[in-house]
Amino acid sequence: VNVITTDALVVRTVAYGESDVIVTLLTEWTGKMSCIVRGGRKSTRRVAGALEPFHTIRVRVDDKGRELSTLREARLVNVRAGIVESLEAVEAAGIALRWARHLCPPRTPEPAAWTTLTTLLDDLDAREGDRSSPRALLAAAGLRLLADVGYALDLERCVSCGKPCPAERAAGIDGARGGLVCAACGGARRVLDSKARAAAVQAQRGKKSAIAPAQAEGLLSLVDEAMAVHADYER
Ligand SMILES: [Zn+2]
Repeated sequence: VNVITTDALVVRTVAYGESDVIVTLLTEWTGKMSCIVRGGRKSTRRVAGALEPFHTIRVRVDDKGRELSTLREARLVNVRAGIVESLEAVEAAGIALRWARHLCPPRTPEPAAWTTLTTLLDDLDAREGDRSSPRALLAAAGLRLLADVGYALDLERCVSCGKPCPAERAAGIDGARGGLVCAACGGARRVLDSKARAAAVQAQRGKKSAIAPAQAEGLLSLVDEAMAVHADYER
Protein backbone atom coordinates (compact mmCIF):
# COMPACT_ATOMS: atom_id res chain seq x y z
CA VAL A 1 0.00 0.00 0.00
CA ASN A 2 1.29 3.40 -0.99
CA VAL A 3 0.50 6.04 1.65
CA ILE A 4 -0.07 9.49 0.19
CA THR A 5 -0.17 12.67 2.26
CA THR A 6 -1.24 15.76 0.34
CA ASP A 7 -3.39 18.86 0.48
CA ALA A 8 -6.73 18.48 -1.26
CA LEU A 9 -10.04 20.07 -2.15
CA VAL A 10 -13.26 18.09 -1.86
CA VAL A 11 -14.97 18.26 -5.24
CA ARG A 12 -17.74 15.76 -4.62
CA THR A 13 -19.16 13.52 -1.92
CA VAL A 14 -21.59 10.67 -2.49
CA ALA A 15 -23.15 8.48 0.20
CA TYR A 16 -22.19 4.83 -0.21
CA GLY A 17 -23.91 1.97 1.55
CA GLU A 18 -25.23 2.51 5.04
CA SER A 19 -22.33 4.33 6.61
CA ASP A 20 -19.63 5.08 4.07
CA VAL A 21 -18.94 8.02 1.79
CA ILE A 22 -17.13 8.17 -1.52
CA VAL A 23 -15.29 11.44 -1.84
CA THR A 24 -13.69 12.83 -4.99
CA LEU A 25 -10.63 14.88 -4.13
CA LEU A 26 -8.55 17.18 -6.21
CA THR A 27 -5.18 16.71 -4.55
CA GLU A 28 -2.17 18.92 -4.92
CA TRP A 29 0.33 16.14 -5.59
CA THR A 30 -1.63 13.27 -7.12
CA GLY A 31 -4.38 15.05 -9.00
CA LYS A 32 -7.95 13.82 -8.88
CA MET A 33 -8.60 10.78 -6.70
CA SER A 34 -11.67 8.91 -5.54
CA CYS A 35 -11.55 7.65 -1.98
CA ILE A 36 -13.83 5.67 0.26
CA VAL A 37 -14.34 7.05 3.75
CA ARG A 38 -15.33 4.18 6.03
CA GLY A 39 -17.96 5.34 8.49
CA GLY A 40 -17.94 8.76 6.84
CA ARG A 41 -21.70 9.22 7.21
CA LYS A 42 -21.47 9.08 10.98
CA SER A 43 -21.07 12.60 12.23
CA THR A 44 -18.96 11.32 15.10
CA ARG A 45 -16.13 10.50 12.72
CA ARG A 46 -13.62 13.32 12.85
CA VAL A 47 -12.87 12.89 9.15
CA ALA A 48 -16.46 13.71 8.17
CA GLY A 49 -16.19 17.26 9.50
CA ALA A 50 -13.29 17.98 7.19
CA LEU A 51 -15.19 16.95 4.06
CA GLU A 52 -17.23 20.09 3.58
CA PRO A 53 -16.39 21.83 0.32
CA PHE A 54 -14.30 24.99 -0.21
CA HIS A 55 -11.72 24.36 2.51
CA THR A 56 -8.22 23.06 1.88
CA ILE A 57 -7.71 19.84 3.79
CA ARG A 58 -4.68 17.67 4.37
CA VAL A 59 -5.41 14.02 3.75
CA ARG A 60 -3.69 10.71 4.31
CA VAL A 61 -4.76 8.18 1.73
CA ASP A 62 -3.97 4.49 1.40
CA ASP A 63 -3.52 3.94 -2.31
CA LYS A 64 -3.61 0.35 -3.51
CA GLY A 65 -3.34 1.37 -7.14
CA ARG A 66 -7.02 0.73 -7.73
CA GLU A 67 -9.64 3.18 -8.82
CA LEU A 68 -10.82 3.67 -5.26
CA SER A 69 -8.37 4.56 -2.51
CA THR A 70 -9.10 4.70 1.21
CA LEU A 71 -9.14 7.99 3.06
CA ARG A 72 -7.60 7.45 6.50
CA GLU A 73 -7.26 10.98 7.83
CA ALA A 74 -8.44 14.43 6.85
CA ARG A 75 -7.94 17.68 8.68
CA LEU A 76 -8.66 21.27 7.82
CA VAL A 77 -5.62 23.36 6.96
CA ASN A 78 -7.25 26.40 5.32
CA VAL A 79 -10.80 27.12 6.44
CA ARG A 80 -12.67 29.46 4.11
CA ALA A 81 -15.65 30.31 6.27
CA GLY A 82 -16.20 33.62 4.45
CA ILE A 83 -17.50 31.87 1.32
CA VAL A 84 -20.68 30.60 2.97
CA GLU A 85 -21.59 34.13 4.04
CA SER A 86 -22.50 34.95 0.44
CA LEU A 87 -24.81 32.91 -1.75
CA GLU A 88 -23.10 34.30 -4.85
CA ALA A 89 -19.71 33.19 -3.53
CA VAL A 90 -21.04 29.73 -2.65
CA GLU A 91 -22.45 29.33 -6.16
CA ALA A 92 -19.24 30.52 -7.81
CA ALA A 93 -17.10 28.23 -5.68
CA GLY A 94 -19.40 25.30 -6.41
CA ILE A 95 -19.20 25.89 -10.17
CA ALA A 96 -15.40 26.12 -10.05
CA LEU A 97 -15.09 22.83 -8.16
CA ARG A 98 -17.45 21.15 -10.63
CA TRP A 99 -15.36 22.44 -13.53
CA ALA A 100 -12.23 21.07 -11.89
CA ARG A 101 -13.85 17.69 -11.31
CA HIS A 102 -14.82 17.42 -14.96
CA LEU A 103 -11.67 18.91 -16.43
CA CYS A 104 -8.94 17.19 -14.45
CA PRO A 105 -8.15 13.61 -15.41
CA PRO A 106 -7.72 11.04 -12.61
CA ARG A 107 -4.31 10.66 -10.98
CA THR A 108 -2.67 13.38 -13.01
CA PRO A 109 -1.14 16.25 -11.05
CA GLU A 110 -2.36 19.61 -12.35
CA PRO A 111 -0.32 22.11 -10.32
CA ALA A 112 -1.45 25.16 -12.30
CA ALA A 113 -5.12 24.22 -11.95
CA TRP A 114 -4.57 23.64 -8.24
CA THR A 115 -3.17 27.15 -7.88
CA THR A 116 -5.97 28.74 -9.92
CA LEU A 117 -8.64 27.01 -7.84
CA THR A 118 -7.18 27.68 -4.42
CA THR A 119 -6.54 31.30 -5.39
CA LEU A 120 -10.15 31.70 -6.53
CA LEU A 121 -11.44 30.16 -3.30
CA ASP A 122 -9.19 32.46 -1.26
CA ASP A 123 -10.48 35.48 -3.19
CA LEU A 124 -14.13 34.41 -2.74
CA ASP A 125 -13.43 33.91 0.95
CA ALA A 126 -11.82 37.29 1.49
CA ARG A 127 -13.95 39.42 -0.77
CA GLU A 128 -14.20 43.03 0.30
CA GLY A 129 -17.49 44.71 -0.50
CA ASP A 130 -18.49 44.85 -4.18
CA ARG A 131 -15.02 45.56 -5.46
CA SER A 132 -14.75 42.14 -7.04
CA SER A 133 -17.85 40.28 -8.09
CA PRO A 134 -17.87 36.51 -7.58
CA ARG A 135 -19.08 35.99 -11.17
CA ALA A 136 -16.23 38.09 -12.57
CA LEU A 137 -13.67 36.23 -10.46
CA LEU A 138 -15.24 32.96 -11.58
CA ALA A 139 -15.09 33.91 -15.26
CA ALA A 140 -11.40 34.81 -14.93
CA ALA A 141 -10.67 31.55 -13.10
CA GLY A 142 -12.56 29.54 -15.74
CA LEU A 143 -10.54 30.98 -18.60
CA ARG A 144 -7.35 30.38 -16.66
CA LEU A 145 -8.38 26.85 -15.72
CA LEU A 146 -8.88 25.93 -19.37
CA ALA A 147 -5.40 27.25 -20.11
CA ASP A 148 -3.93 25.44 -17.09
CA VAL A 149 -4.95 22.04 -18.40
CA GLY A 150 -4.01 22.72 -22.02
CA TYR A 151 -7.35 23.87 -23.43
CA ALA A 152 -6.73 27.61 -23.62
CA LEU A 153 -9.13 29.39 -25.94
CA ASP A 154 -7.40 31.16 -28.79
CA LEU A 155 -8.79 34.67 -28.56
CA GLU A 156 -6.31 36.38 -30.87
CA ARG A 157 -6.29 34.40 -34.09
CA CYS A 158 -8.79 32.33 -36.03
CA VAL A 159 -8.85 28.67 -34.96
CA SER A 160 -9.69 27.69 -38.52
CA CYS A 161 -7.36 29.71 -40.79
CA GLY A 162 -4.90 31.11 -38.24
CA LYS A 163 -5.34 34.72 -39.26
CA PRO A 164 -4.66 37.14 -36.38
CA CYS A 165 -7.48 39.49 -35.41
CA PRO A 166 -6.44 43.09 -34.61
CA ALA A 167 -6.86 43.80 -30.89
CA GLU A 168 -9.15 46.78 -31.44
CA ARG A 169 -11.76 44.71 -33.28
CA ALA A 170 -14.75 42.79 -32.00
CA ALA A 171 -14.56 39.10 -32.85
CA GLY A 172 -16.76 36.02 -32.99
CA ILE A 173 -15.70 33.42 -30.44
CA ASP A 174 -16.88 29.81 -30.43
CA GLY A 175 -16.07 28.12 -27.14
CA ALA A 176 -16.78 24.68 -28.56
CA ARG A 177 -14.33 25.19 -31.42
CA GLY A 178 -11.62 26.53 -29.16
CA GLY A 179 -11.73 30.25 -29.79
CA LEU A 180 -11.97 32.94 -32.41
CA VAL A 181 -13.55 32.19 -35.79
CA CYS A 182 -12.99 34.94 -38.33
CA ALA A 183 -15.75 36.23 -40.61
CA ALA A 184 -14.17 34.59 -43.68
CA CYS A 185 -14.37 31.23 -41.88
CA GLY A 186 -18.01 31.73 -40.99
CA GLY A 187 -17.71 33.67 -37.73
CA ALA A 188 -19.35 32.70 -34.47
CA ARG A 189 -22.68 33.41 -32.83
CA ARG A 190 -21.07 34.88 -29.74
CA VAL A 191 -19.26 38.16 -30.34
CA LEU A 192 -16.84 39.74 -27.87
CA ASP A 193 -16.10 43.44 -28.16
CA SER A 194 -12.45 44.45 -28.10
CA LYS A 195 -12.47 45.27 -24.37
CA ALA A 196 -14.04 41.98 -23.30
CA ARG A 197 -11.65 40.08 -25.56
CA ALA A 198 -8.64 41.89 -24.11
CA ALA A 199 -9.91 41.22 -20.58
CA ALA A 200 -10.31 37.53 -21.38
CA VAL A 201 -6.76 37.34 -22.73
CA GLN A 202 -5.46 38.95 -19.53
CA ALA A 203 -7.49 36.53 -17.40
CA GLN A 204 -6.09 33.56 -19.31
CA ARG A 205 -2.61 34.81 -18.51
CA GLY A 206 -3.47 34.85 -14.82
CA LYS A 207 -4.66 38.38 -14.15
CA LYS A 208 -7.51 37.39 -11.86
CA SER A 209 -9.07 40.86 -11.64
CA ALA A 210 -9.04 41.45 -15.40
CA ILE A 211 -12.77 40.97 -15.91
CA ALA A 212 -15.29 43.67 -15.05
CA PRO A 213 -18.60 42.59 -13.49
CA ALA A 214 -20.46 43.70 -16.65
CA GLN A 215 -18.30 41.35 -18.78
CA ALA A 216 -18.73 38.33 -16.51
CA GLU A 217 -21.89 36.71 -17.91
CA GLY A 218 -20.83 36.76 -21.55
CA LEU A 219 -17.45 35.28 -20.71
CA LEU A 220 -18.97 32.68 -18.40
CA SER A 221 -21.20 31.47 -21.25
CA LEU A 222 -18.09 31.15 -23.36
CA VAL A 223 -16.26 29.22 -20.64
CA ASP A 224 -19.27 26.91 -20.26
CA GLU A 225 -19.21 26.14 -24.00
CA ALA A 226 -15.52 25.29 -23.83
CA MET A 227 -15.86 23.23 -20.67
CA ALA A 228 -18.68 21.22 -22.21
CA VAL A 229 -16.52 19.92 -25.05
CA HIS A 230 -13.44 19.13 -22.98
CA ALA A 231 -14.97 17.89 -19.79
CA ASP A 232 -15.62 14.24 -19.35
CA TYR A 233 -18.95 14.78 -17.63
CA GLU A 234 -19.39 12.25 -14.86
CA ARG A 235 -22.72 13.40 -13.53
ZN1 LIG B 1 -10.45 32.21 -40.31
